Amino acid sequence: MAQRNTTAFALATGMLCLVQAHAQSDGPSIGGPEGLDIYDELTENAPLSSAVWDVNDSLTHIPGYDMYCHWNTDVLFNRDSGHQLGHDSVRIELGQHLCDIAIPCDGKQTSPYGMRHGRMHYGLDLDLETGDPVMAAFDGMVRISKYNKSFGNVVVIRHYNGLETLYAHLSKRKVEPGDVIMAGDTLGLGGNTGRSYGSHLHFEVRFLDQPIDPSLVVDIDNGSLKSLHFDLHKGSVASMAAAQAESRSKGATRKYHVIRSGDTLYGLSRKYGVRVRDLCRINGISERSTLSIGQRLRYN
Ligand SMILES: [Zn+2]
Repeated sequence: MAQRNTTAFALATGMLCLVQAHAQSDGPSIGGPEGLDIYDELTENAPLSSAVWDVNDSLTHIPGYDMYCHWNTDVLFNRDSGHQLGHDSVRIELGQHLCDIAIPCDGKQTSPYGMRHGRMHYGLDLDLETGDPVMAAFDGMVRISKYNKSFGNVVVIRHYNGLETLYAHLSKRKVEPGDVIMAGDTLGLGGNTGRSYGSHLHFEVRFLDQPIDPSLVVDIDNGSLKSLHFDLHKGSVASMAAAQAESRSKGATRKYHVIRSGDTLYGLSRKYGVRVRDLCRINGISERSTLSIGQRLRYN
């Protein structure tokens, strides 16, 4: 089960967040890694009040801190965070074995990721009954546990590989920001809170605030990982950002091709009558980029 963080750490992390220019005024709501043990180790049992917390502690204890450089326990996702992938693609290691994941709930998928009723649906919907346990998909630390108008009771967990997972519409939350959680731990109970019509779990996977189709990471039917790693492309992030912009501006019709085995930029160029150079520009990739199966490329 999840373990509680200490107030001392929460306050220290709060100070750090201010230094990081992510203004947070309410110290106690700011989570941090649990563990008086860890704390004692670092400070050699110095009194809590004399502890000096610096960025290295966050690097050590907050999952993915080196990638995000912040730990915000209030804002679900920062769409305009400006995080950039430094290279054409980033390989995200998911686990040692395909079974290194816990499926968040038992129900079948009722709605996939993608465009739905003219709007982008950034997660998978899984069927459940109100009160069914909802489990963390991977080990990590709870970043958000709050009520949100759209998501209802919602929990966001940061994982050690930088991925974040979101669990929405819960009837009850059983974790707090800063809790260390293991794959399979119950984080709350399923429900129908927020903008939801009928009990279900809305499950999202994000990397650096960008939504990823969860079905590229997890095979819900088999209860396993899709593969041991996931290659996130600059192009797929760009096209996701484009899809977000599209869902915000009515009337714009942007078209995407989902890469299948054997697809090449030149093949797509011929198929859709768009120059390779333009395909690359629209998707923020280079002509030498490797396409991966499941990647979405915008072609208009
Ligand atoms: Zn949903």
